[in-house]
Amino acid sequence: MKTSAIRQYTIKRQFLALGTINQICLYDQTDNKLIDKAVNRVMEIDDKMSAFKKDSEISGVNQNAGVKPVIVSEETFRLLQLSKEISKLSGGAFDITLRPLIKLWGINKKLNYIPERHDIDKALKITGYKNLVLNEKNCSAYLKKSGQAIDLGGIAKGYAADEVKRILVEGGVTSAIINLGGNIVALGAGPNGLPWEIGIQNPAAERGIFLGILSAANKTIVTSGSNERFFIKDGVRYHHILDPRTGKPAKSGLLGVTAVGECSAIADAVSTAVFVLGMEKGINLLKKFKLEAVFALDDYKICLTEGLINKFTVN
Ligand code: AMP
Ligand code: MG
Repeated sequence: MKTSAIRQYTIKRQFLALGTINQICLYDQTDNKLIDKAVNRVMEIDDKMSAFKKDSEISGVNQNAGVKPVIVSEETFRLLQLSKEISKLSGGAFDITLRPLIKLWGINKKLNYIPERHDIDKALKITGYKNLVLNEKNCSAYLKKSGQAIDLGGIAKGYAADEVKRILVEGGVTSAIINLGGNIVALGAGPNGLPWEIGIQNPAAERGIFLGILSAANKTIVTSGSNERFFIKDGVRYHHILDPRTGKPAKSGLLGVTAVGECSAIADAVSTAVFVLGMEKGINLLKKFKLEAVFALDDYKICLTEGLINKFTVN
C-alpha cells in the first residue's frame, strides 16, 4: 500500500489478529480510545470466528459436525448466511467448508507437503457448502457430515474491516486507512481531499513492488493472490486458495485479483471466488456484486474492469 506523504497519519496502530498483521491509521483524529475500540472489535471477531481457537463459535459448530446444530451469535450467523449466498452465486468456487482440505495441505502451517490423491478425495467427500444448514429461527448452524468443518479465512478479514470502518465513522473519523492483512478500506479521502493512492502488490514480485497505483476514496480494496501463502516444490507453486472441484490450489490463469467495492466482506469472499473461477467467469460474479477488479494474469498481463479505467496507473 502506498499513501501520499503530503499528510502524515495522526495515530497508527499495528496489531496481530486473524492470523495476520493489521494496521489502522487515522489522519484526522488522535483519539486512542476509539482506535482501542476498533482493535478490540477485531479481537472479538477473531475470538468468535477463528477455526483455530477451540472456544470460538466456529469451532463449536465444527466440533458438532454430524452431531447437532449449534446456536451462534447473530453476527456469526449473518456472515455464514452471506458466505453461503456467495458460494451459491459462485457455483461453489467460494466454499467455507474447505477446512478438511486446507488442513490436509497445511499451507498456512508451512508444512510444504503435497497430499496424496486418495487423501484429497477423502477430504473432498466431507466438503460442500450445501451440507451447512442454517436455521434463521434460532440462529443455529449445523454441518451435516461428521468431520466437516468451516474456515472463514476467505471472508472474516473483510468483515472485520467493515466493522472497523463502522466504528471509526461512528467516532467521527473522516480520513483513515484500515489494512487487515491486505484487506484495505480507504475511508474518506486522502491528503488534501484527493483520493487515496493505493499500491496494488505485484503477485510475481517481492513485497512492496506494485503492479500499479489505484486511486480510491471510500472504497474497499481486497486482493487474493498466489503469492500470499505458498510453497514451491519442484518448480511448482502450491498456494493457499484451493479449488473446491479439484481439492488442489486453484489454477485459473490468474496470479492475483483485486476486488474494489463498498463492502469489504463481500469483496473478500468474491476476490477469493474470482481467483478460483478465473477472469472470464469471475467478471460475471463481480458484476452481480457491483465490484470492479484488477486482474494479474499468469502471462504477466494486467486487465481492468471498465470502472477502473482512469483510476489505475500501471507502474
Ligand atoms: P483469501 O486470502 O481471502 O483469498 O482467502 C484464502 C483463505 O481462505 C485461505 O487461506 C483458506 O483459509 C480459505 N480458502 C482457501 N480456498 C478457499 C475457497 N475456495 N473458498 C473459500 N475459502 C477458501
Ligand atoms: Mg478473500
